[in-house]
Amino acid sequence: MASGQWRALAEQFQLICPSGGAPGVGSPGALPGLASCGHWVNVAGLQGWVQALLDQGIPSFRCPRCPESPWLWQELCKLGLFTDEARARLEAQILVQEGATGSYRQCPRCQRLVQRLEPGPLRTPCLPCSQQARRLYCFCWGCGRDWPDTSPHADPRCPLQAALHDAPKIQAPPSSLHGCPSLRACPRCYALLSHTLQGYPSVICPECHCVFCYRCLGLSGGHRLPCQIADRQLVCGREAVTLLPMGAQ
Ligand SMILES: [Zn+2]
Ligand SMILES: [Zn+2]
Ligand SMILES: [Zn+2]
Ligand SMILES: [Zn+2]
Ligand SMILES: [Zn+2]
Repeated sequence: MASGQWRALAEQFQLICPSGGAPGVGSPGALPGLASCGHWVNVAGLQGWVQALLDQGIPSFRCPRCPESPWLWQELCKLGLFTDEARARLEAQILVQEGATGSYRQCPRCQRLVQRLEPGPLRTPCLPCSQQARRLYCFCWGCGRDWPDTSPHADPRCPLQAALHDAPKIQAPPSSLHGCPSLRACPRCYALLSHTLQGYPSVICPECHCVFCYRCLGLSGGHRLPCQIADRQLVCGREAVTLLPMGAQ
């Protein structure tokens, strides 16, 4: 969305307090909240604004006054004082957006969403759970399991899992790879690779040299298109990678 549209939408919901200034200068009765970028937000307009963006398929938020400043979802929830019901409804809407897969995770304890914009440590704090517990509560960005204290996390595959989960889908409509995750793990040795989008869907793993289909993850043999695109792989946690025999379709 262009920055002009971004501003216009914010004006429609009277999102930013006049002159971006301190509380008291907004419209009467407007409850202002201070965003992380230093601008005051009219909290009354926040929910409608978020809803309008989600309706347009935009699952991430930034300050209309300083568009380079992201507003993380958990920050908006804190500012917006959404009811549990409104929050759950908005979060359900975020979760179905393809553009949100890489930057959101659901807290395993409270089921609320946590957003992050850059790859970072796997140990991810949940604000509401930390407030409730009165101490830092975290979970793993990779496997989505509890990670309450600073002890090392058990599963060495979690960074791999995080990368696989965060990879966007390939957008290349004429290609047979369209809709596949842009990152795959070799179904045999878990080496990460992505498709060049040239040639056939089958790829050779640079590590173990097995041949598999980038679409369905089936290992070599007689293979015919169209096969079913396998979803993002699960390589850690409760479920293991599904190995489909090639040519089984
Ligand atoms: Zn700002
Ligand atoms: Zn939580
Ligand atoms: Zn983990
Ligand atoms: Zn391999
Ligand atoms: Zn296949």
